[in-house]
Amino acid sequence: MTDTIAIVGAGQAALQTAESLRRGGFAGHLVMVSDEPHPAYQRPPLSKKYLAGELPLERMWLKPAAFYESHQVDLRLNVRATAIHRDRQQLELSQGEPIQYSQLLLATGASPRQSTAPGVSLQGIHALRSISDADLIRARLKPGSRVVIVGGGYMGLEVAATCRGLGCQVDVLEMGARVMNRVVAPVISDFFTAEHRRAGVSIHLGTTVTGFLAAASDPTRVATVLASDGKEYPADEVIIAMGVQPNIDLATRAGLDCENGIAVDETCRTNDPLIFSAGDCCSQVNHRYAKRIRLESVDNAFEQAKTVASNMLGTRTVHDKLPWFWSDQYDLKILIVGLNIDYDQVVLRGTPDSRSFSCAYLRDARLIAMDCINNAKDYMAAKKLIADKPLCDLSRLADPTIPLKDTVA
Ligand SMILES: Cc1cc2nc3c(=O)[nH]c(=O)nc-3n(C[C@H](O)[C@H](O)[C@H](O)COP(=O)(O)OP(=O)(O)OC[C@H]3O[C@@H](n4cnc5c(N)ncnc54)[C@H](O)[C@@H]3O)c2cc1C
Repeated sequence: MTDTIAIVGAGQAALQTAESLRRGGFAGHLVMVSDEPHPAYQRPPLSKKYLAGELPLERMWLKPAAFYESHQVDLRLNVRATAIHRDRQQLELSQGEPIQYSQLLLATGASPRQSTAPGVSLQGIHALRSISDADLIRARLKPGSRVVIVGGGYMGLEVAATCRGLGCQVDVLEMGARVMNRVVAPVISDFFTAEHRRAGVSIHLGTTVTGFLAAASDPTRVATVLASDGKEYPADEVIIAMGVQPNIDLATRAGLDCENGIAVDETCRTNDPLIFSAGDCCSQVNHRYAKRIRLESVDNAFEQAKTVASNMLGTRTVHDKLPWFWSDQYDLKILIVGLNIDYDQVVLRGTPDSRSFSCAYLRDARLIAMDCINNAKDYMAAKKLIADKPLCDLSRLADPTIPLKDTVA
């Protein structure tokens, strides 16, 4: 059998795996199938500069078109992988012959969670995951457009900032008691809520959507969002930003273990030794955090992809890098390093009023994660420091004039 590596998906994880495989000397057939019409592109700008119209389409590609030819990647767009026959190592496609694989990567990403509220199928209610979604939304946004964003996580708030920049009127409905409540400390939520309110965004906490209504003049389009606070929010456009769920259908139907994502070990291998998974779709045993975790970030997709390529090429490699993330809202860049799982203390370095500060998360006085707002210096130092979970001198840590590296007890 020809040595064939098949990759399902053509996102960040897929692309990086292909590149690393070729760089690592893989000389066999490399085939990548995507159900999207585009080659691999960056998703982060979809809620930021691309949605704002500040980044042209040609700058969205992760690699120029020539990459696929020069790296002999057999890229098949608008093709869906429909089944995996593990017994005969075959990947079935929506078009064309099945692929006989020697190893397979599932890099299927994630899909936006849908609202189940009545009226959700009206026009003007959007998800945001792809270039096509962003194009559709962008074409509708005009100064004065009334935009209701459902969900006050990173993506919802990034979209809110972008829409304000375009002159839209923005309401954010967040069911939790604070924004970004899954990922940051209350002090950071409060800071971002204040920043958004100052920019003119109306943030409604503890509020869920109960339904969507059309206007009598056009029964096909959304005009009003009904909410649990009893209010009715006028809406020209609604953007659902309620998080994502991993795309695991293909894996589940093939009998692969799934647990909040396609379950992989520390080498990114599934319970089938010939099948790997990477990126948003998989959950991985992570020894650093002593648990299985699923992350949604460019860095995670990139690092897991490199791990996959290495293991596919026969060098056992474990992924246990310290995770990091970013988000851009207005002129604020938040850089997050480490996961603040089970933190028991928070120490601020600097004050939120300065709009350049950091929030250190500790467990048993050891530094485990940090949110750095407009503070790249702390972020760079934290990346080096947190890997070792150092014991910190709390009074020195709270003094932003002392370099982070000098706060270790
Ligand atoms: C709007 C937005 C903003 C973001 N901002 C940030 C940010 O600021 N910082 C950050 O770190 N991360 C951000 N992210 C997250 C980041 O983009 C993702 O974590 C990353 O793209 C994941 O890459 P992936 O390769 O795992 O999946 P994806 O990029 O989702 O790629 C998976 C691909 O597989 C395709 N596919 C699925 N099933 C099949 C099938 N059966 N057959 C064929 N193809 C299939 C999908 O259509 C998709 O094209 C953002 C994401 C979005 C949507």
